[in-house]
Amino acid sequence: MNATQTLELFKSAQKRSHWAGDVRPSEVGQRITLNGWVAVSRDLGGITFIELRDRTGLFQLVADPQHNQAVHSVLGTLKSESVISVTGVVSLRPEETINGKLPTGTIEMYPESVSVLSRAKTLPFPLDEAENVDEALRLKHRYLDLRRPEMFANIELRHRLVQAMREYLNGEGFLEIETPILIKSTPEGARDYLVPSRVNPAHVYALPQSPQLFKQILMMSGMERYYQLARCFRDEDLRADRQPEFTQIDMEMSFVTQEDVMATMEGLIHHMFKQANVSLPTPFPRLTWRNAMETYGSDKPDLRFDLKFTNLTDVFKDTDFAVFKEAANKGIVLALRVPDAASYSRKELDDLQKQARQYGAKGLAYILLSEDEGLKSPILKFFNEAEIQAVLEKTQAQTGDAIFFMADNKFNKACEVLGRFRLHFAKRHNLIDANNHQITWVVDFPMFDVDDETGALSPCHHPFTSPHPDDVHLLDSDPASVRSLGYDLAYNGAEIGGGSIRIHQSELQAKLLGMIGFSQEDAHAQFGFLLEALDFGAPPHGGLAFGMDRIVQMLTNATSIREVIAFPKNNAAQCLLTSSPSEPDAQQLGDLYMQFVLPEKEDASV
Ligand code: ASP
Repeated sequence: MNATQTLELFKSAQKRSHWAGDVRPSEVGQRITLNGWVAVSRDLGGITFIELRDRTGLFQLVADPQHNQAVHSVLGTLKSESVISVTGVVSLRPEETINGKLPTGTIEMYPESVSVLSRAKTLPFPLDEAENVDEALRLKHRYLDLRRPEMFANIELRHRLVQAMREYLNGEGFLEIETPILIKSTPEGARDYLVPSRVNPAHVYALPQSPQLFKQILMMSGMERYYQLARCFRDEDLRADRQPEFTQIDMEMSFVTQEDVMATMEGLIHHMFKQANVSLPTPFPRLTWRNAMETYGSDKPDLRFDLKFTNLTDVFKDTDFAVFKEAANKGIVLALRVPDAASYSRKELDDLQKQARQYGAKGLAYILLSEDEGLKSPILKFFNEAEIQAVLEKTQAQTGDAIFFMADNKFNKACEVLGRFRLHFAKRHNLIDANNHQITWVVDFPMFDVDDETGALSPCHHPFTSPHPDDVHLLDSDPASVRSLGYDLAYNGAEIGGGSIRIHQSELQAKLLGMIGFSQEDAHAQFGFLLEALDFGAPPHGGLAFGMDRIVQMLTNATSIREVIAFPKNNAAQCLLTSSPSEPDAQQLGDLYMQFVLPEKEDASV
């Protein structure tokens, strides 16, 4: 068929009267037209059975040569994923071919006419086996992959979540405002993507790591309430399940306290999650950062299971066991009681030690409360009777349990390492119920991360986060102990959002920039516009951003965020569909006055 004939055919093809998945037995006897893809085609005894698919579902077509020779000769030769339009009368299926799993499983159609709108070649992979094929192949042929009902469901839920977000925030008086993509760098802790400017030779824009500074400036512009479905760009190593470009629900409010922002966001999350039939009671629980760390070993604790740490620091302040004594006086000693772990094999316990060393700890000390042999532990000999009693009482350990210990001079490290084991034990003992949904705020974060070696301060959130008013007086004398007005929202063990009340006084902002290492000159060169805006009437303001991709992934139970993004990049930041990034041609580089200088040994191919 030539191109003109194809166009003619398209004009004459019938438009759908019904969606394939929506036809019901009540339509039996009606003549309908369906448009869609040949999902499955089977030949049974000379009769062709086709499952026609559109985005709503499947409908069975039967092409019987006895019935209609012409239709059979067309449908019988089609490869999967060809696109057709068929017209015919809906009929009931014979009893023996009823498919109880499909809403259209009791009905079918013997088409009277068929138009082939597009013939598909043999596919690079059968769509119903996509889950077992190399992901690279799926990404290269993303249009095939996205045709799968599972992928459509992900994209559709994403759409509904976005609509619910807009509905809620519009109702709360927020304005949706776009901010620029070509910007001056905003520090969110990652590397920037840079875009050279042709009209400003040797100058670059950065792609936004987030709209942070623009949304703050919008508050200084009197907008009061802003939101945006914002695309953010961070040039990070993509080992984890991340994307170089991702989507945030970004928002900001004026004249608010932390409580106001959190209450508004609880309403939003509650409203959005209802779309996925997840009901989260409000108000959401809260944990301070310190409490989250020393109880669950994470600043995004998974509260779906009840394993909690016991802080034993006080028990070991004067112990003869030197390692614990030092940690108890300089850092922290934690214990984690794990039910039904007393029977772990020697090998399993050895593996835990290896694991601990990989996490950067010296080991994972333990006491087993064995049913037959009583207390078993290589470190028991270092404890006196009172210490043993205190450990047993405080952890409330019972026969059959194991108690694992983590002691370190560094608070964060001890908590984090034991936190990783907490997750390990939850998996090992199957403690996570997939139908359990647990959300919590984490508040009172430290203002700064302190570099162990240099003592240099860096912001825990970002440099525009306000210090906690109760701790401002400690900024000079003890910055490490200053808390911020930053808050994160953790859902089932993942951080799905974070934000803060911002600094709205220019002197304090300048001071904070100085504390994290900006000279006055640098601070003005990079953030002069912000410092200046703060000097012309800035309202108190605060906000937050949610990771949209992660939220959709969690609500669809998808295995990675790539499953909920229509056109994601792979782990090397490449789009396999379009083969980007690609090499610029000489003219493009010339226009930008650019050339690449590659290190000698490096492989230049991308
Ligand atoms: N800009 C922050 C982020 O991207 C969120 C916020 O503070 O509102 O994480």
